[in-house]
Amino acid sequence: MSVTDQPSHPREHTVVDQTPTQLLVDGTWRPAARGGTFPVEDPSTTRTLCSVSDATAEDAVEALAAADRAQNAWAAHPPRERGEILRRAFETITDRHEDLALLMTLEMGKPLAESRAEITYAAEFFRWFAEEAVRVGGDYSVSPSGKGRMLVLRQPVGPSLMITPWNFPMAMGTRKIGPAVAAGCTMVVKPAHQTPLTMLALGHILTESGLPDGVLNIIPTRHAGEVTPPILNDERLRKLTFTGSTPVGRSLIEQAAPQVLNVSMELGGNAPFLVFDDADVDAAVDGAMLAKMRNIGEACTAANRFYVHRSVAEEFTTKLTERMRALRTGRGVDDSVEVGPLIDAGQLDKVVELVDDAVTRGARVVTGGERGEGPGHYYTPTVLADVPTEARLLREEIFGPVAPIVTFTEEHQALHAANDTEFGLVSYVYTRDMQRALRVSEALQAGMVGLNQGVVSNAAAPFGGVKQSGIGREGGTVGIDEYLETKYVAVGGL
Ligand code: NAP
Repeated sequence: MSVTDQPSHPREHTVVDQTPTQLLVDGTWRPAARGGTFPVEDPSTTRTLCSVSDATAEDAVEALAAADRAQNAWAAHPPRERGEILRRAFETITDRHEDLALLMTLEMGKPLAESRAEITYAAEFFRWFAEEAVRVGGDYSVSPSGKGRMLVLRQPVGPSLMITPWNFPMAMGTRKIGPAVAAGCTMVVKPAHQTPLTMLALGHILTESGLPDGVLNIIPTRHAGEVTPPILNDERLRKLTFTGSTPVGRSLIEQAAPQVLNVSMELGGNAPFLVFDDADVDAAVDGAMLAKMRNIGEACTAANRFYVHRSVAEEFTTKLTERMRALRTGRGVDDSVEVGPLIDAGQLDKVVELVDDAVTRGARVVTGGERGEGPGHYYTPTVLADVPTEARLLREEIFGPVAPIVTFTEEHQALHAANDTEFGLVSYVYTRDMQRALRVSEALQAGMVGLNQGVVSNAAAPFGGVKQSGIGREGGTVGIDEYLETKYVAVGGL
């Protein structure tokens, strides 16, 4: 492994300097009510990139008031124009691809190639929902008795609170903002404190694209637990949509209960990756590298547990280990780097703790298994074999570059192990047997299955989990439904 820690390049300063660092409330960039700010860190160096306004509860209530004032006019805005705003934003994001990717890498740490891929993926939600904005239909039918008619309308839910995580700082925003804009909802967005800059840059693009004042409000804060409760308890709020960890999601569902808010939850995962004896092992290793190492392993969809048939386990482990050893770790801004730092010291400590726990219980380190060279939060790409069932990392999200391998002999054992978790976001299956592929895909308790494929994310597909991985779907033709209510009008006199 070689860790690069070059001095920062002037272009890095430029992209940070040109990004807004204040709150966006009612179409105006302004400081926080009490003037507070908080630092944003570059996880590859631990240096501070800049300071961002630290919203208070008072700011949050003002942001919601602005969203509420804008709601009726926005709901009445022509759907075609709402779609065209998204389309313009899609084009601007695409034009500013390189600067946005650099900004994302600076605050989040992922390699530039991955930031570029996220920007493309994120923009795709705007293009997709620009098209969906004009396809919100209704229904008209004759009542079964023949007397009267039934009219069914779809209307925007109303002002929505959107809370997003740091691991995909733009895509987790566009997956919510895109359908909300298309449906005619206004919103207050609270990005993660580690990565507010990408969301602020996105806010700038949306206002430039013609989004009316008050439709999108952005309130970065270092005190989420104090800033969001007052708006969750405000009757002007009609929806809560959250992407983040299951414990925080659970607590937010409780906080949404008094107002019976419409709730969408994209929560944690613990994805199993199943390799059967009839799999194409080389394709499985390619898929494993994507499913494990995309985003430095810091993805809700990251393969967390590899269940490999005993007959191919040695070949799979050897080939995966060669690929993991060859990866270059360092600052993501260096184009040759493939693995960046973890997001912060806490996340690095958690990965160290989980690997130590597995090793203490008998797992064998095939490669890696140690911290990387600082000052950033680096962890060496790791493969663990002979991982015992009791190891914590088979039950908890690792969120780091660690691949634990467990062997099996029977299909039912692999299925039982895969489903033995409270999570149910995504599962991966590698097999060349069509019957098995369908049988196993049906039996897996997951919202999504990657069949001979290591990445499932696609703006045109419904993304989401079952069990404690979430409620609702983002993307696809159903993504806009999360922002629409159904109204039935009983028509008499006919
Ligand atoms: P997190 O700690 O749950 O934080 C997510 C967001 O919630 C952040 O904006 C955070 O703000 C905010 N938050 C934390 N505590 C809060 C509170 N008491 N009240 C209101 N907001 C609060 O998760 P994370 O570490 O950022 O993200 C990683 C997690 O997200 C993983 O579990 C991953 O699986 C999950 N994830 C799921 C999906 C999916 O689609 N299912 C996609 C991506 C990530 P702060 O910035 O102040 O902490």
